Amino acid sequence: MSDLRDITAPPALEPRYTLLRNAAIYTGDAAHTCHLRGAMLIRNDRVTWCGPEADAASIPGALEACAIDLGGRVVMPGLINTHAHGGMGLHRGCCDDGGLFAWARTIAPHTSALTLEQARQGCELAVREMVRNGITTACDCTRYGAGIFSSVATDMGMRSLSGALANSPSLRPNGRPNWPLALQETLETIGQRRDDGLSRFYLGAHSPYSCTPELIVEVKQAAREHGLPFVIHAAECRDEVDWVQTRYGCSPIEWLHRLGVLDPQTLLAHCVCVDADDIERIAASGAAVSHNPVSNAKLASGIAPVPQMRARGIPVGLGTDSTLSNNALNLFQEMKFAVLLQRAHRLDATILTARDALRMATSEGGHALGWGADIGSLAPGRLADLVVLDLQHPLGWTSERLLSDIVYAAGPQHVHAVMVGGQTIFEGGRFPRLDGSRAPRPF
Ligand SMILES: [Zn+2]
Repeated sequence: MSDLRDITAPPALEPRYTLLRNAAIYTGDAAHTCHLRGAMLIRNDRVTWCGPEADAASIPGALEACAIDLGGRVVMPGLINTHAHGGMGLHRGCCDDGGLFAWARTIAPHTSALTLEQARQGCELAVREMVRNGITTACDCTRYGAGIFSSVATDMGMRSLSGALANSPSLRPNGRPNWPLALQETLETIGQRRDDGLSRFYLGAHSPYSCTPELIVEVKQAAREHGLPFVIHAAECRDEVDWVQTRYGCSPIEWLHRLGVLDPQTLLAHCVCVDADDIERIAASGAAVSHNPVSNAKLASGIAPVPQMRARGIPVGLGTDSTLSNNALNLFQEMKFAVLLQRAHRLDATILTARDALRMATSEGGHALGWGADIGSLAPGRLADLVVLDLQHPLGWTSERLLSDIVYAAGPQHVHAVMVGGQTIFEGGRFPRLDGSRAPRPF
């Protein structure tokens, strides 16, 4: 018998098997399958089997596996944060009141003046917080230093989809111009890190109100040339809609459609102020959406029509946004708040459910990032990215209680351990990849 602390070595040439046993497992597969007395077999970095513990002994590889007794704890897929700004990690609470445009004006002198070293420090704080909170993959946005977040995340063992968002100096005068610098930095970083197994990259433009149409088209064209996803903030608040309507005579989504940048490789952050026509545009294009309910509510931006977007087949992931607009990097909170917000807004207690929230925080988020074939569930063949929760139910687990507790009752305080690709990156309050420490207490 071993414990999770030992699962930090690189995969060996020979298959390395790990058996997680004595666990209540929410697999996050298409049927929301739970194995309440479950076990999971990991072969190197991927799940190879997950099922009732009683069946484990007959699974090839199980008998030679390093077996870990989880003591009845809960296992769920790693949480996927589809929108973050790790580089702002030093500025939590610096501006808590004000709508998006006023807020952005207030913080600009601080965030535009960040040095690369300060951005790195912010990323280090943000990545630690995310991992501690059960996040195994994050899509990060910055202005300068496109490679910083992925460098920090990889050191800690977390996956990332990262890059920089281009801005037009004529529309966003604070700070230095960052295009084509962002393209150069991103391509250099890809050259350095493409084989680390944890990092992916995108090219992005900040928003329709901070980028000229020429810049948005140029960035999207570069993304297509290099086979990279494209990320942009869109339709975040009423001020943005009014600004785009006044300048271009249409909605932000219609504007992006006219510019030809909506397609299945595009991720739209926010989409709070979208009407039925906008939703049809997004659905027809195949683009995905990152929903940031806490940030949108805190900035008084509004409530995104998540049920309508998902009903049209748009992949909607959950995001925390930054520590400046949220202020916690906590997807448990986002899951619960996403459900409660829709119910309170629509006066319909079935409009969004715990299952919907779990889906958005895991597999649908993975799909939104273009990573859906590998992450987001614990189905056989997926990467073994998972969270171990110290959760129990006084009446014992049923599948319904398990899903309910994860969304409505659990939080970072329940995160016992985090694995990415079958390697333990957080356990008992420690980050073994960072400090080489052993956990302070037995598992
Ligand atoms: Zn953002």
